[in-house]
Amino acid sequence: MTEIAKPRDDVVKKSARKPLQAAIIGAGMAGILAAIKLRQRDIDCVVFEKGDSVGGTWRENTYPGLTCDVSAHWYTYSFARNPEWDSLMASGQAIRTYFERVANEFGIVPLIRFNDEVVKLHYTDGGWDLLTASGHQQHFDIVIVATGVLHHPNIPHFERIETFRGSVFHSARWDHQVELDGKRIGVIGTGSTAAQLTSALVPRASRYHLFQRTAQWVLPRENTPYTEKDKARFRSDPGALEQLVSELRSKTMKGYATAVIDANSPELAEIERICRESLEGVRDPDLRRKLTPSYRAACKRLVISDSFYGAIQHPNAALVTSPIQRIEPEGVRTADGVLHELDVLVLATGFKVDRFIRPAQVTGRGGIDLDDVWADGPKAYLSISVPGFPNFFFLNGPNSPVGNFSLVEVAQHQIEYILKLVDGIRFGEYAEVNATEASMQRFEQERCEAARKTVWVTGCDSWYLDKNGVPASWTFSYDRFVDETRAPQMSDFEVKTSCSQADALIAAPQ
Ligand code: NAP
Repeated sequence: MTEIAKPRDDVVKKSARKPLQAAIIGAGMAGILAAIKLRQRDIDCVVFEKGDSVGGTWRENTYPGLTCDVSAHWYTYSFARNPEWDSLMASGQAIRTYFERVANEFGIVPLIRFNDEVVKLHYTDGGWDLLTASGHQQHFDIVIVATGVLHHPNIPHFERIETFRGSVFHSARWDHQVELDGKRIGVIGTGSTAAQLTSALVPRASRYHLFQRTAQWVLPRENTPYTEKDKARFRSDPGALEQLVSELRSKTMKGYATAVIDANSPELAEIERICRESLEGVRDPDLRRKLTPSYRAACKRLVISDSFYGAIQHPNAALVTSPIQRIEPEGVRTADGVLHELDVLVLATGFKVDRFIRPAQVTGRGGIDLDDVWADGPKAYLSISVPGFPNFFFLNGPNSPVGNFSLVEVAQHQIEYILKLVDGIRFGEYAEVNATEASMQRFEQERCEAARKTVWVTGCDSWYLDKNGVPASWTFSYDRFVDETRAPQMSDFEVKTSCSQADALIAAPQ
């Protein structure tokens, strides 16, 4: 049996703590978390952020209707609960404000270099040489990558899009100068983003067109408001708030977490039943048929909305299912020959999800290039560490749990695990640590094996699948994720001591 590393803070260390310098890449939810946790251990850190403010995805996405469909109290740091959430699911703006507030309250903002994108990381002399776009260079002992998954917009090629006379932009690059009220608006895509846009824009548009390539399963969920009385109770009774978080978590876990990893589970059947029942509410049989997916529920990420079907049935709204042929100056021409005239065209076409730290160039031990290591797709042992890249850790990295979970909670489990590895460096037990090739391969084999049972491989295309059709996500149970990230199994890691550490060991009195 492999041994479990003990929590370092409980171990009496004879050696002095080594002062460490950490680079954190990204000042979104995970980067703020990493900075707070490192500072709590007196580890110096610099956060590199290419944008001009904190918040990550909640800074980049500002589209009308933006809401986080994961319950707000669960999508909150456990050490900074927020009794003030207005409703079960919070708006994008409220979430952005929350992360800004936490970053301020925990003193993280002064540690951030804004508008400074990391372009190069090179492992040398037992640490990382970092270079930014502005030419700033600095050496760090450890690097924590917190760059997010849904970050680089996917902008498909649409023939002659440059000829469009109206305004066109991706949903994550919203142009707030563009007038929407009374305009003819088109949205391409039917994912979570497009569903939220549809609910928000149909009432404002003179005519609304939703260009659907694939129908989506939509799970209804009412966004119940919290009353002032609820909030007062959460403020005065943290126990009640924790109880609520626990209930919200277990509700999702009981149904969704089992459903996605077992396509034959009764939980998935139940989700499908609820979705179908809600779809039955669409009155026009032709529209209902067009909205009916031809694959299993949750194969693509479930859309959560109790307003989408209502909005798409509005007299102003049209669901266009004929494929897009080209864009013309006046609008979108579909394969059936119809020109859909538009003033505004929104590409709700998703994200390139295999980038992570890239396009930054990352070279590890012996000059190995992360691009080469990931030629077949991004991989990391337990989503956290890559062989050959010492002291280099991911939050919400490759194959991390994604979907309808709280990524805040996921990142919290991961940072605690990473800190245990960092403690080994801090207390002089070793100078370098990274997963072994063998543990990486074993993890990947098990992950791909487990993928066979998941709903993600039951016959749909989605951003969960990598270029080989293998789910690029955590294919085990969520319980296993929690279990495995409790503490590192050190036999899965390769560690190296520095010359000075070896000398100290030799010189140490017996
Ligand atoms: P998405 O789920 O990847 O959906 C992209 C949509 O664009 C799909 O409907 C896709 O059609 C369509 N599309 C892509 N290329 C196209 C083309 N060439 N022609 C026509 N249609 C095309 O993207 P998203 O809606 O932005 O959501 C991405 C992820 O962000 C979500 O899965 C979720 O994890 C996260 N998100 C979360 C929330 C939340 O409330 N928590 C809200 C929004 C987004 P096909 O299905 O046919 O490929």
